[in-house]
Amino acid sequence: MNGSSEKNMNGSSAALTPKRLEGKVAIITGGAGGIGESTARLFVRHGAKVVVADVQDKLGPSLCEELGAEGAVSYVHCDVTRDEDVKNAVDFAVAKYGKLDIMYNNAGITGKVYPTVLDADGEDFKRVLDINVCGAFLGAKHAARVMIPAKRGVILFTASIASTCAGESPHAYTTSKHAVVGLMKNLCVELGQYGIRVNAISPCGIATPLLVNAVGLEKSMLAEVLSASAVLKGPVPEPEDVAEAALYLSGDEAKFVSGLNLVVDGGYTTTNPTFKMLLERLMP
Ligand code: NAD
Repeated sequence: MNGSSEKNMNGSSAALTPKRLEGKVAIITGGAGGIGESTARLFVRHGAKVVVADVQDKLGPSLCEELGAEGAVSYVHCDVTRDEDVKNAVDFAVAKYGKLDIMYNNAGITGKVYPTVLDADGEDFKRVLDINVCGAFLGAKHAARVMIPAKRGVILFTASIASTCAGESPHAYTTSKHAVVGLMKNLCVELGQYGIRVNAISPCGIATPLLVNAVGLEKSMLAEVLSASAVLKGPVPEPEDVAEAALYLSGDEAKFVSGLNLVVDGGYTTTNPTFKMLLERLMP
């Protein structure tokens, strides 16, 4: 196959690009919305069979109906904090599609946004860690259960730039995303002997429902703030950018990539512009 630039009748070259996940089976947790939904769309476009595992029992099935050419995509109710639900999602994928190649542990929440640590409450902290860390752990555990005998597989996590850059997210969220990267690295070491690759993706802020709700701004205004704060000018960060990173890490193009926290942030975490900005304000 080649990456022909010929266009199809709609003027799009999408149909002619190689299908990079042909024959692969993926589970995407939190696949009914935001980054997970974009990834589901891209994976299906690249020939994968996809199980959307989420708690949104209306959005999930309607996405599958929209995408579901020849049963390529299925919805399963899965609260990632429940061991039984995660086990069931993995068993469902294997029963329906015969195997599991890619487990994308993407579901996550920000938790409540508090002005200070004194206002934060422990129950919210536990809930964020339960979904973002324990949920990701359960996904990896049940995926490993079927990937180890197969001696192959890809386990992915959505972390965040909050895994490398502190002070911009609630404490629970930042803690959880640091933990996700630690979990990813530990699993990479243990599962490498079975040919299983384990990686994370760390996006910057993207105007999905998660961030729109957390900051309480309109989507378009949030996109403007994200653009203004970006190092890389021009493109606005979108869920599709994360989906493309997931596609790369899931495909055979990344066959020797494991233990990576792939930051997708247009360079945001490379710098801290505060000193320069303050200096510029003082300069005549
Ligand atoms: P989103 O809110 O649009 O989507 C998250 C999905 O996870 C939803 O479909 C939701 O129903 C699902 N979900 C929530 N709790 C769940 C549970 N217990 N079990 C199963 N599914 C559950 O958010 P998003 O922005 O697409 O976030 C996806 C991931 O990306 C999260 O891990 C988030 O922390 C991470 N992330 C987001 C941003 C951002 O700015 N949007 C930046 C960095 C990292």
